[in-house]
Amino acid sequence: MLQTMVTSVAADAIKNIINDGSRFVVLAHRNPDGDAVGSSLALVHYLRSLGKEAFAMFPNDFPIFLKWMPGADDIVIYDSDKERGDKLLQWADTFFCLDFNALSRIGAVGDAVSVLQTRRVLIDHHPYPETGFDVAVSHPEACSTCELVFRIIYLLGGTEALTHKMAECIYVGMMTDTGNFAYASNRRDIYLILAELMDKGIDKDIIYRRVFYNYSLSRLRLFGYMMYRKLRVYTKSNAALLVLENEELKRFNAIKGDTEGLVNMPLQIRGIRFTCFLREEQPGKINVSLRSVDDFPCNAVAAEFFNGGGHKNASGGELHCTMDEAVEIFRKALRKYHAELTK
Ligand code: 5GP
Ligand code: MN
Repeated sequence: MLQTMVTSVAADAIKNIINDGSRFVVLAHRNPDGDAVGSSLALVHYLRSLGKEAFAMFPNDFPIFLKWMPGADDIVIYDSDKERGDKLLQWADTFFCLDFNALSRIGAVGDAVSVLQTRRVLIDHHPYPETGFDVAVSHPEACSTCELVFRIIYLLGGTEALTHKMAECIYVGMMTDTGNFAYASNRRDIYLILAELMDKGIDKDIIYRRVFYNYSLSRLRLFGYMMYRKLRVYTKSNAALLVLENEELKRFNAIKGDTEGLVNMPLQIRGIRFTCFLREEQPGKINVSLRSVDDFPCNAVAAEFFNGGGHKNASGGELHCTMDEAVEIFRKALRKYHAELTK
């Protein structure tokens, strides 16, 4: 049914790892998004369905609009429960690393993991994965890590192995990483997988509302404010910039996830091909989000100017400087990439 992506050799390697192990910890990246949470929970449900002990653990907390997901109550947040987190890391005989390509992306959890001899399996769709994994399933052509988790479950056990809970989790990651199938979603296999998920009885309309129509009033006000007052458009470079200071985040009572999707908004403007969102997490620390369309590689900009990386059309990084300096770095990046942005 599906075209080959995850090979049968890779699936066999994962099968052996699962058979050999009994205590699994599934790790995903800092500031977990729908794909990180969805893929981790789907895999935890799958491992448990095989009679294995399994837990998901994230470096820090995830947004409220993902808390309804089956198994979300049981996720260990390292930031807020380091003692339990460290115990679990010691306890595990296998780590699954999902939706990130380098241990540095999981902060303090990565530091703890790097000194352990525990087996590590990578399942991810970011380009340029680092080495050091016992098994690596890395496919940048996948729309999401959830797609890869679906493929692995399907290769190992067919559709019978897939439960309603797993299907819901997988749907969330495929939906969020493609902007509800608006980008990175031009392969027919995606829709064949969706048909299988529908066969498990998921309600995609309800899932959409739970994730995208589940925000606070303050988030909507913040979006309005950002579009009206803060958006800077660099017409000559086909680019846009949004800058959000820490004081503004506080003024709008912004909580985790409230700025999700903001960086994409300026791409709605005719001609805009590249957007940047600079968010001052705390004074002197600036989180950077970049988005682009078509073949403009914002991950190259992230690596060169913002200490980061990511996908071709969705990437990020961080800066340790003032906001004025960060804006200057963005302008420098625009000058450097002017020709590519205007061709
Ligand atoms: P977001 O803008 O949603 O925070 O991140 C979008 C994508 O950029 C993520 O899926 C991830 O691939 C990448 N990304 C974000 N921050 C970083 C970072 O600090 N380092 C690297 N290497 N990638 C990042
Ligand atoms: Mn992802």
